[in-house]
Amino acid sequence: MEKSMKYEFETRCIHPANLELKQHPYGAVSIPIYQTAIFSHPGIGESRGHNYSRESNPTRAYLEEIISNLEGAVDTVACSSGMAAISLVLELFSSGDHLICSNDLYGGSTRLFTLQQNKGLKFSYVDTTNLKSFKQYIRPQTKAVFIETPSNPTMQISDLKKISALCQAHKLLLIVDNTFLSPYFQNPLLLGADIVIHSATKFLSGHNDIIAGSISTGDHKLAKRIREVSKTVGNSLSPLDCYLLIRGIKTLAIRQKSQQENALKISNWLNRHPRVSKVYYPGLIEHPGYEINRNQARGFGSMIAFSVENHFLAKKILENVQLITYAESLGGVESLITYPMIQTHGDVPAEIRAKLGITDNFLRLSVGIENIDDLLADLRQAFGDNDEI
Ligand SMILES: *Cc1c(COP(=O)(O)O)cnc(C)c1O
Repeated sequence: MEKSMKYEFETRCIHPANLELKQHPYGAVSIPIYQTAIFSHPGIGESRGHNYSRESNPTRAYLEEIISNLEGAVDTVACSSGMAAISLVLELFSSGDHLICSNDLYGGSTRLFTLQQNKGLKFSYVDTTNLKSFKQYIRPQTKAVFIETPSNPTMQISDLKKISALCQAHKLLLIVDNTFLSPYFQNPLLLGADIVIHSATKFLSGHNDIIAGSISTGDHKLAKRIREVSKTVGNSLSPLDCYLLIRGIKTLAIRQKSQQENALKISNWLNRHPRVSKVYYPGLIEHPGYEINRNQARGFGSMIAFSVENHFLAKKILENVQLITYAESLGGVESLITYPMIQTHGDVPAEIRAKLGITDNFLRLSVGIENIDDLLADLRQAFGDNDEI
């Protein structure tokens, strides 16, 4: 841990903790893309450190070192997508095992859990912001808790320290999908989580140009098991994508700073808008998780969800945005707007969606690094504010 915290965060986005890893051939300043499937053996039963790229590859190892360093992990495995990372983690469990998860989750995670349910894993969807109700779901078969905080898309905040204490008391693994805040704002492993997952497609990459994922852990034994499964199931990230992710992470800190600055301004603007009925952003003091988030994270991120007066206005906004792109996904330098009900959360059961407020007037905004005045002007024209003046 000490080694990984030697430099400040901004520096750690650019340089691995082990500076010897920077000694690339010919003194190359950026890591080469080792586009090779195999590595020759120097002698019988000998290895130069890498043998076969499904198992390990120098470009991937460099990326994994950077992410471990940012998350305070002992090891990280880079996967071909966020879903590949979550699938890999589920391989740690056996038929009959029970997992407790947040009732508000990325829609793809819910879809994967349904698939796994057919094969014998059991899941309970619980309000993880409420510890009392949560405790009642723990049973002898319970093996893990899977949460997102803030959750996707309603931005609910769960108390990581309290949940981790509860998990320790009951010998449950705490798995946190840290995609929404990224390690720049939040380090769940340092708050007691056992495993941290990222859809690196989002903030870590930051440019909407690759699909990638990662699994980090602070425990050596667990790390060994995850490596073993990773090598076996073979969903590791390709060398080229590893290179692009390393490149993206270099600017993680400055992107996140600028994205959050824009998001705070936009959330305040939305909050004052007469046709917006509710804003879900943990950076607003009235957000129910504001204090907990402040205690466990270094910021609020740049994801905002909001409800407008009716579905006509929601559709009008989606059809009229010009600078902001109507597209799924999040976390990149480009601002995106989504309609969770029919896109990211289309597969979430309707009654759960309704309970959470993911209805036909609910929109999700991923705020990018464009100029704030341009973003606000685009929102104003998409809402039709200018027409009414
Ligand atoms: C996008 C996303 C995922 C899935 O990641 P992919 O890289 O798209 O496979 C998982 N969790 C969260 C919170 C996400 O936003």
